Amino acid sequence: MKIKTGDMVVVIAGKRQKSDYQGVPRKVLKVLPSQNKVVVEGHRVVKKHVRPSKDRPKGGRIEKEYPIDVSNVMLYCEHCERGVRVGSKFTAEGKIRVCRSCGKEVPLPKGMRPKRSKNLPVSAEKENSSSAQGEEKAEEGKE
Ligand SMILES: [Zn+2]
Repeated sequence: MKIKTGDMVVVIAGKRQKSDYQGVPRKVLKVLPSQNKVVVEGHRVVKKHVRPSKDRPKGGRIEKEYPIDVSNVMLYCEHCERGVRVGSKFTAEGKIRVCRSCGKEVPLPKGMRPKRSKNLPVSAEKENSSSAQGEEKAEEGKE
C-alpha cells in the first residue's frame, strides 16, 4: 500500500462530508494492509455502545472511526493542494512517492524512511517499477 500511517489523504468516494467534497485533507490514523483499508481521522465516526468494563465502569458510548477502503482515498499533494495519484521513483535515498500531477515528491510521514531496494542500483531512476503496477494500470484505464 502506498498510503502510510500519518499521511494526509482526501476522501474521494463512499460516504463523504461536505469538507471532503471541498478536498480538505484528513490524517490517516491507521492502515490495515491485509484488508486494504485505512482509518481516516474524523471520517465515518460511529458511536459504539460498550458494556461496563474495568476501564469504563459505567459503560456507555464511545466514538470510533470506521475503516474505509483504500481506494476511497487519494494521497494529498501539498503542491497541487488536492488528492492526487502517485507513482514511485527510486533515488539514492531509496524509493519515494511522486505526485503524478506535478511530479514533486510526496514525502513520507515524519519519522518514516524510504525503503531501499537491494535489487536496483541506487543510481537507476526507474519510474514505476514496483510490484503494485497492476493497480496503477487499472486506474489508468478508467479515465
Ligand atoms: Zn502535486
